Amino acid sequence: MVRILLQLPQEYVDQFRPWNEMAKQVAYFCWAAAALVVLGHIVKLLLTREAKDRYDYINKSEIKLLWIAAIIFIVGACFYANSNIQELSTLWIFVRVFTTISMGTIAALVVQNLLKFYYPFFVEKRLKALRYQPRISPKTGKPMKLLSEEEEDAYLDEGMQAEENVFSMDYDVWMDPETKFVKIEKYSGHLHALQCPECNYQTFKVVKEEILKTPTASEEGELLKHYQCGYCGYKAKKTVTLKASSSAKFEESATTA
Ligand SMILES: [Zn+2]
Repeated sequence: MVRILLQLPQEYVDQFRPWNEMAKQVAYFCWAAAALVVLGHIVKLLLTREAKDRYDYINKSEIKLLWIAAIIFIVGACFYANSNIQELSTLWIFVRVFTTISMGTIAALVVQNLLKFYYPFFVEKRLKALRYQPRISPKTGKPMKLLSEEEEDAYLDEGMQAEENVFSMDYDVWMDPETKFVKIEKYSGHLHALQCPECNYQTFKVVKEEILKTPTASEEGELLKHYQCGYCGYKAKKTVTLKASSSAKFEESATTA
């Protein structure tokens, strides 16, 4: 009796072998794909030497790519967890599907939270270092100097200055002191989050901008920026003074020159 019971399951178990094999293959395939996504990102980082290009690439893609890799990895893990099936009934199918989906979802949520709220601190540190890393002058091969907000205005055209004022756009101007060679880099405030004053996460972004008063040639204008935190929902408004129309400034500097 005991022998029969022991023998029967073996045949019974065998019928799950094709599924188990396939589930393992799918798992390995997913893990390899996830590893490739991460590896591809690392290679791309290594190949992107220029600080500003690196900045843009990290800012735009790093968290997105890690999220994709994590999802593929978790799907692989879900298959692996079901690659050792010995018995199956309707109830077991239900239990397995339910457990797999819940565990997979929990794992995805944990990763999502890490990437959304903790990982940005690490990204931010690297972005800051890249933004302020001295640019090398192609003329002399020596480090250039980052101009201050006041100094840089002379090198930004009217459109750039208006953008800096209104669209949360930041321009950095690097100058080679020897040859006066100038390199201008553009940074977008909408793509880049700040640290939230309420929860301290790096999730505080400009969501809307309103011009309260349009600047004229002689008078300053006023701009209202609406910020919102993507984590705690904290909202804040900030009024920014818009410089008197820069065209007037350019005319002035043209006449004095
Ligand atoms: Zn917050």
